[in-house]
Amino acid sequence: MYTDLSLYIDGQWVAGTGEGRFTVTDPATGEAVGELALAGKADLDRALAAAQRGFASWSVTSAYDRSRVLRQAAALCRERMARMAACMTRDQGKPLAESTAEAAAAADHIEWYAEEGRRAYGRVIPARNPAVRQLVLREPVGPVAAFTPWNFPINQAVRKIAGALAAGCSIILKGPEEAPGSVIELVRCFHDAGVPAGVLNLVFGEPAQVSDYLIRSPIIRKISFTGSTAVGRQLGVLAASELKLTTMELGGHAPFIVCADADVQAAANLAVLLKYRNAGQVCAAPSRFFVHADVYEAFAAAFAEKSAALKVGAGTEEGVQMGPLANARRLQAMLELVDDARARGARVLTGGQRLGEAGNFYAPTVLADVPPEARLLSEEPFGPVAPLLRFTDLNEAIERANALEYGLAAFAFTASVKTATELGNRLRAGMVSINHFGLALPETPFGGIGASGHGSEGGSEGLEAYLTTKFISQI
Ligand code: NAD
Repeated sequence: MYTDLSLYIDGQWVAGTGEGRFTVTDPATGEAVGELALAGKADLDRALAAAQRGFASWSVTSAYDRSRVLRQAAALCRERMARMAACMTRDQGKPLAESTAEAAAAADHIEWYAEEGRRAYGRVIPARNPAVRQLVLREPVGPVAAFTPWNFPINQAVRKIAGALAAGCSIILKGPEEAPGSVIELVRCFHDAGVPAGVLNLVFGEPAQVSDYLIRSPIIRKISFTGSTAVGRQLGVLAASELKLTTMELGGHAPFIVCADADVQAAANLAVLLKYRNAGQVCAAPSRFFVHADVYEAFAAAFAEKSAALKVGAGTEEGVQMGPLANARRLQAMLELVDDARARGARVLTGGQRLGEAGNFYAPTVLADVPPEARLLSEEPFGPVAPLLRFTDLNEAIERANALEYGLAAFAFTASVKTATELGNRLRAGMVSINHFGLALPETPFGGIGASGHGSEGGSEGLEAYLTTKFISQI
C-alpha cells in the first residue's frame, strides 16, 4: 500500500483540501493500493501563487544553473529507477521491464532538456541603419499548466516538466489520479535535486475542475495537455478563449503498412512489439494493419502466432510480456470493439476475449478481414487489438491510411528505397517510422497533426514550445 500520496505545492508535500480522496487500485487485481489526496480551490490558489513567484526567480536564473539542477534530477532518476518502476507497475499495471525502461528514459529526457536549455539562442538581424542593433530574444513563456494521463505516467510528465524548467518556466502539473505513484517519485527527484520552491508543483483532483480553474487563471500563460482528442478539444477551446498558447498531444490511430516486398518476419516481430507494449495503450501504437495481398497470409500467420505466444500476467511476475489494461474502461472498450468487429464478419485469428475474472486482462488479439464499417477502424482502440486489412494497390492503402482525422504516427515496411521515400512523403502523420521503430527519443520531435493535436515534445521543438519571441531594436 502507498502511504504517502500527497500533493506537492510551493516546495512542500501537502495533503489536499479537496473533497474526498481517490482510491488508487492495482489493475492486475482490482484491489486498492492507496488513497490519493485531491486538490481543492485553496490548494490550486496556493499552487498558482507559488508558480508565479517561482517563475519570477527561475526565469532569471541562468540557463547554466538551471541545467545543473536538471542534471542532478536526471542522476536521481537513474539512482531511483527501481523504486519509480515498482510504483508504476503497481498502479498502472505494465510489466516491470517496461516501467524500468520508462524511468531510465526519463533521465535521458531530463538530460536532453538540460543541454538544450542552454541553446535557446536568439539572433541578430542586420539593420538598415548601421547605428541600430536588432536583436531577437527567446524568453520563457510564463507559468505553465500541464495535464498528463495514466498510460505513461512518468514519460508524459517528464517531457512537460523538463521542457518547461529548461526554458525557464514554472509549472503546475496535474498528474493522473489513477496512476499517481511514479509521478510523485519523479517530482521528488526534482525536489531533491534542488528545484526551488514554487517552480514545480504537482496536484491531483477532479480533472475538469482543476483544468478549468488553472486554464482560466491569468497567472497561467501556456497549456500543455496529453490525453484524448475529446478532452483536448474542450481544453483547447477554453485556452483559445483566454488567448493562451497550447501544446496538444492527443489520440492516434496509426497505420502500419506492409508492402509486398517487405521482410514479413521483421514486420511481424515489430508489429508484436509495438502493438502489445503497455497493452496497446499507446497513442502512437499501430492500430490499422494494411497488408499487401501477396504477403497477407504469411504476415497474419506470423503475427497471430507471436501474439498467442506472449506471456500475459501481472506486471510484477517474472517473464510477463503484457500486463493488464490500466483501468476497467479500457477492458470494456476492448470487449465492445471486438464484439462489434466480430458481429460484422471479422475473423478472430487469436485472442478476442477477456482473460480471467480478476484484474483488467484482455488477450492479445489479431482480427483478419475486418470490414471497413467496423468501429475499430475509426475509433482508436487504445488496447491490445490488431485489425488486419488486405490491399493490392499501394495508392489505395495510403489513401485509406490517411482517411481518418487522426495524424500522429505511421509505420511502413518495404525493401524499396523508392517506395519508402514515397511513403514518408505521402503518409499524413506527425511522425513516420519506416522499417524499424524510431520514435519518441528525447532529441527527436514527437507530436501529431489534425485530431492528434499540435506542437511537439522532444527535439529542439520541445524547448521551443515554452519560449516566446521578443524583438529589440536599439540605437
Ligand atoms: P478520458 O478522455 O476520460 O481522459 C483522458 C485523460 O484526460 C485522462 O488522463 C483524464 O484524467 C484526463 N482528463 C479527462 N477530462 C479532463 C479535463 N476536463 N481536464 C483535464 N484532464 C482531463 O479517457 P480515458 O478513458 O482516461 O482514456 C481513454 C482515451 O484517452 C483513449 O482512447 C485515448 O484516446 C486517450 N488517451 C490518450 C493518451 C495519449 O497519450 N495521447 C493517453 C491516455 C489516454
